[in-house]
Parts: sequence; C-alpha cells; structure tokens
Amino acid sequence: MKICFATHNENKLKEINQILRDFEIVGLNDIGCTEEIPETGSTLDENSKIKADFVAEKYNIPCFADDTGLEVEVLNGEPGVYSARYAGGERDNQANINLLLKNLETHSNRSARFRTVITLILNGDSHQFEGIINGRIIEEFRGEGGFGYDPIFIPDGHEQTFAEMSAEVKNSISHRGRAVAKLVKYLENKA
Ligand code: IMP
Repeated sequence: MKICFATHNENKLKEINQILRDFEIVGLNDIGCTEEIPETGSTLDENSKIKADFVAEKYNIPCFADDTGLEVEVLNGEPGVYSARYAGGERDNQANINLLLKNLETHSNRSARFRTVITLILNGDSHQFEGIINGRIIEEFRGEGGFGYDPIFIPDGHEQTFAEMSAEVKNSISHRGRAVAKLVKYLENKA
C-alpha cells in the first residue's frame, strides 16, 4: 500500500521507509504537492489532523502527518504548538532558544517535555498516535547534533542533551520515535 507522509523533509521520509518495509511511503514532493500546508490549529492534535486531511482529500491518498512541540511546565505548556516560531515568524532557532531561556530565567522548575502527535487518515478514518519524552531545560547550549531545542534539553534518566546524543540513541527514546513506533505497530497489523 502506498501512503503519503505529509512532509517535505527527506530525512524523516528516509527514516520511516527504513522501518515500514511493507509499505511504500512517499512524501509531498513525490505526489506533486509543493505548497506550504497552512497550520492554523491551536493544538498539535489539530495541526497534524489539518495537514493529513488536506493531503488525503486533495490527493485522494492515505496519509499521515506529524506535529511536534516543546511544552515547558512553568510556562503553561509554551512554546507548544508555536515551537517553530516562538520568537516570531522567521523560524529562527537561535532566537527561539534565547527567548525560552530568558522566560525561564527566574524559574527553578525547568521541567519540560517534547510531544509529537501523528494523525493517520486511512480509508476515510482518522487515527492519532502520541509520543512524549519528559526532561528538563538547562541554562547553556550543549552539543552539536540534532536540531531545534536539542542543545538545551536533557531527557529524564540521561546526562546528555539530545544534541550530544547520536541520532540512533535520540530516535530510540524521542517523542517522534515513540509516536512513530505506535503508528508502525498499527500499520503492521494492516499489512
Ligand atoms: P515539527 O512539527 O516537526 O515541524 O516541529 C516543530 C518545531 O518543534 C521545530 O521547528 C523545532 O523547533 C521543534 N522540534 C520538533 N522536534 C524537535 C526535536 O526532536 N528536537 C528539538 N526541537 C524539536
């Protein structure tokens, strides 16, 4: 079965194709969708569903989409759904981290979690899969790997930030890895 993963990110596609061998997973570029799908929801659940619905309806193909946010406890779950554009519309990673560290300056509670929601549209039905990793925000940048907020996030039970871990170790415990594992289990039962 051919399924579209609503992403332009070739790394995400490659990764999922290595796991889901019984399915042909294609990306937005492969189905000729070059437009930026509007993320107009106010939650991760809404946004991942908006993206998956958009593709499934317009291109008439089974589809899944993901949305991820960093949720900081003492900031009432911010930046959450706005993680990519926390410091403004430019998706400036450095500015996002600087703003987050500034907003946490006076707080000793540094608890945070990454949360991913994947929505799958299959045979007209919608299914959601959630992955969470709990951890804490440190005060300085550590590590060169990963992306986004990785250099300031240490998952519980570990000493290294996500940016200091190998991709294999990060993927094996990460929010996205956990959500994908649930999706894979579901799809494998359909194969
Ligand atoms: P997306 O939904 O995967 O596009 O993620 C939205 C934003 O959340 C990204 O632009 C990053 O700022 C942040 N983010 C998502 N996943 C990760 C991660 O694994 N590590 C660090 N930051 C992440």
